[in-house]
Amino acid sequence: MSINVIIAGPRGKMGSEAIQMVTNEPNFELVACVDRINNGKTLQDIDGLPDLAVPIFEDINECFEKIQADVFIDLTVPKAAFEHAKQALNHQVRPIIGTSGLTDEQLEVLRQIAKEVKTGCVVAPNFAVGAVLMMQFAKMAAKHFPDVEIIEKHHDQKLDAPSGSAVKTAQLIKETREAKHQGHPKEEETIAGARGAEMDGMHIHSVRLPGLVAHQEVLFGGSGQTLTIKHDSYNRESFMAGIKFAINKVINLDEFVYGLENILE
Ligand code: NAP
Repeated sequence: MSINVIIAGPRGKMGSEAIQMVTNEPNFELVACVDRINNGKTLQDIDGLPDLAVPIFEDINECFEKIQADVFIDLTVPKAAFEHAKQALNHQVRPIIGTSGLTDEQLEVLRQIAKEVKTGCVVAPNFAVGAVLMMQFAKMAAKHFPDVEIIEKHHDQKLDAPSGSAVKTAQLIKETREAKHQGHPKEEETIAGARGAEMDGMHIHSVRLPGLVAHQEVLFGGSGQTLTIKHDSYNRESFMAGIKFAINKVINLDEFVYGLENILE
């Protein structure tokens, strides 16, 4: 069975990589793209995109009304992704949201709509399988090491900080970590922000530099020992196996799922 896919954000770094992945898969068919410019054009009209007669729509509702699709992939910006995901669910097209930075409230709205319309929806802040395993290992380690700091490093065009993956890691750690305010009780920052963001007494540090893609270290400290769990995505291809897996999985889902780890077997 062929799975018809729509991709939003085709000119973006992730979107263009997703186009390659979808068009290289024999059981996927790229049927349309959603962009905020280039309405009425096709992919082959856009410099740097594949020579394909795939139509581009600026209005997502028009896209869903004219194009029959099974899955909608969003790799844009959080504000657009949230609106796109709602519209996709309302048209019973299963959204896969790779865009990071959706708020807890927005995730809850999507969960509710998915439930009402009985349509699968996958939101994952990180589609790299190695990164998902890193988070699971961090959750395991936190049971034994309640002192933990997260350092996430990304390219300097990233809009949100801390990264969705760092927040997700902290949430998973919270499930096993004994609640603790870390560091010296009288600790003071002589420069604001020196200790990074704080979540439940844990600290999260965000590095933004050109040349980086997506990297994270979770550092645990105990008496006389440290443990570092580290993952690096060196290019955007590293996210595509997870997106491919999610496409095949979401077809058989009728509810909202947050996190790739919840669909990996
Ligand atoms: P990017 O290169 O900046 O691409 C974003 C694209 O979205 C751009 O082409 C942009 O168009 C387009 N866009 C902006 N607003 C839009 C709208 N309203 N409707 C349609 N398209 C719109 O960014 P990227 O590196 O590809 O990343 C995209 C998203 O994926 C980010 O949220 C990033 O954090 C996330 N990400 C997720 C994962 C994961 O595994 N889940 C991995 C890497 C990245 P303009 O150029 O016109 O602004």
